[in-house]
Amino acid sequence: MAKIAIDLDDTLVLTVELLIKDILKTNKDSWFKGYHSLEDLNFKERDAFYHYIRQTLNKQEIKTFKPIPHSKKILYKLAKEHELYIITARSTDVKNHTHLWINEHFNNIFKEIIFCEYHKSDHFVETKGEICKKYGIDLIVDDNKEYIWDCHKHKIKTIVFDYKKQYPWAKDKYPKDIQIANDWQDVLKIIENTKF
Ligand SMILES: [Mg+2]
Repeated sequence: MAKIAIDLDDTLVLTVELLIKDILKTNKDSWFKGYHSLEDLNFKERDAFYHYIRQTLNKQEIKTFKPIPHSKKILYKLAKEHELYIITARSTDVKNHTHLWINEHFNNIFKEIIFCEYHKSDHFVETKGEICKKYGIDLIVDDNKEYIWDCHKHKIKTIVFDYKKQYPWAKDKYPKDIQIANDWQDVLKIIENTKF
């Protein structure tokens, strides 16, 4: 049995994609007229939207979003063999609705939901790598390259979640021991082939 941490936004739910869809729908006259989703944007535009959404995430309406395909089935399977945690960079401002969302879609799967605390915006009290170390996490699945590198530095096994290869913020030149998943079936395969 291993301890596995799962990120929330853009790993379990398409937060950026769904918020971009809303923005594109409600700003019909702007430069992105005719755009409908993340796939219509180029690499730079997607990356810019990602950073905008990260900064405003705690103010956005995200309660109604559905989990990414297959994540639920695969996590129920993994929970039978491993101890699963959520580690999210969301702040405790959105703690209540995050708990409600997890309980609705992933009931009894996670041992704990761990929120990052901030000194000020973007400055964590503890980084994800430090949190993983503290909790004795063996492996983390996350879409953000900065968190991946930080966890790798702390000797945590890492899986980069680059869903359908659409996440500019996940891409980097990684060494072989950092593996890349493009959907939840890939995550399952990599974990099943990992020696803990
Ligand atoms: Mg994320």
